[in-house]
Amino acid sequence: MKKSLFIIALACLAFTANAQDGPRQVLFTNVNIYNGVDGVLVENGSVLVEGNLIKQVSEGTLSAPDAFLVDGEGRTMMPGLIDMHSHLCFRNGMLEFRDDYDQMANGAYTARAMLDYLDQGFTTVRDAGCNILGVAKAVNNGIVPGPRIFPSGGFLSQTGGHADTGSFNDRIGDQDKLEQGRVGYIVDGADEAIRAARHNLRAGATQIKIMAGGGVASEFDPLHMTQFTAEEMKAIVGIAEDYGTYVLAHAYHDRSVNRAIDAGVKVIEHNFLVSEETIVRMKQEGVALSVQAVVALVQFGDPDSITFFSEDQKNKAKQVNSGALQMMKWAIKHELLMVTGGDMFGPDLPNQADNVIKFQEVAENVHLVLKTATSNAAEVLTWSGGMNPYKEGTLGTIAEGGYADIILVDGNPLEDITVIKRDTVDFVMKDGLVYKNWLPNEKAPAFQPAGPERDAYFGLH
Ligand SMILES: [Zn+2]
Repeated sequence: MKKSLFIIALACLAFTANAQDGPRQVLFTNVNIYNGVDGVLVENGSVLVEGNLIKQVSEGTLSAPDAFLVDGEGRTMMPGLIDMHSHLCFRNGMLEFRDDYDQMANGAYTARAMLDYLDQGFTTVRDAGCNILGVAKAVNNGIVPGPRIFPSGGFLSQTGGHADTGSFNDRIGDQDKLEQGRVGYIVDGADEAIRAARHNLRAGATQIKIMAGGGVASEFDPLHMTQFTAEEMKAIVGIAEDYGTYVLAHAYHDRSVNRAIDAGVKVIEHNFLVSEETIVRMKQEGVALSVQAVVALVQFGDPDSITFFSEDQKNKAKQVNSGALQMMKWAIKHELLMVTGGDMFGPDLPNQADNVIKFQEVAENVHLVLKTATSNAAEVLTWSGGMNPYKEGTLGTIAEGGYADIILVDGNPLEDITVIKRDTVDFVMKDGLVYKNWLPNEKAPAFQPAGPERDAYFGLH
């Protein structure tokens, strides 16, 4: 990191003094544009942002006399990156902020994590499960800075499922203590599952996350296990559909993935142990795949390095690793709709782009891979339908009418995908506001919290 988050946060606040009346305009000149949809680089273009939306994209110059000017100096403009499997409130697993701290500490940590995502150029995340619903609301209301969040809320898991963090001697029902941290809900039977799904959705969950099969970092669920009955899964999907949205499922193998698809689940997370036949079915039925390349290929390739894993967990990690490369190759061969989501927190938080870059080592197709973190991700996010809080513009592309979620990277990502790493992400704009600016001598509107309490709280004006 070239600068600390603290300094960036202060700089953001300092810029707010430049606020003007009317919709603010920012004119980017001298930028090469990768729009996240077409696999080409448009050289020497210009882009005009008005308010929080992209107003004009030009292959040449544009005129906007009242706009703030940002000379990109030949950098590449691309859509803000999207991570499709984050856990913003996790630092050291699911239990740390339930057992060892409290929710205030969790909130403070999460605020820091969100600034870090922005600093890396990730302007949107889909949170795949944690106590994030209040934070997402606060970000949307401008109370705290953060990426756009598509929150799942607490994930849904069965007794003995991937999210069962109880102890061996628990009595029936004791597992509910997971709920105390609002990280997840242990539910058994359609009625309990429905109640938990509705509880998430009433507080703004944009989709529902379920644990549909065995996991690695959990104690009571062998990897081969299938979780939730067909009836339970269908009940949860039914509630999601009643809210106009969808369900994503943690699942590794054929039996759990196929049961999830049968029930109407739209996105499979992980998927690393399925057969080619299941991949073909996903393609035929329009089910998307969410890829965690670093976790499956790097971390689970060397499970002995994960010091807090038991022998059993290390064995499960090895098993997942053994199928990962083949599964990714089949997914590429059959042209699944793929998105990337790191599932990387704690020590891996600062390196979210690595998940995308690692996938490129398998795919060897930069545009295909960049789409997983831009336009493909945006397409899946639209499946949140009526629950999508961001309906004013499009995400994941540099296009007229799109949200002004923009990054400038130093280099051509189509030639060298590693330029999406933090240290070559020189400029970050989300919703028309600047969160990072390493360009020299620029003025641009920065994060400005909303609401009447703003002036008193932040000491502005
Ligand atoms: Zn996860």
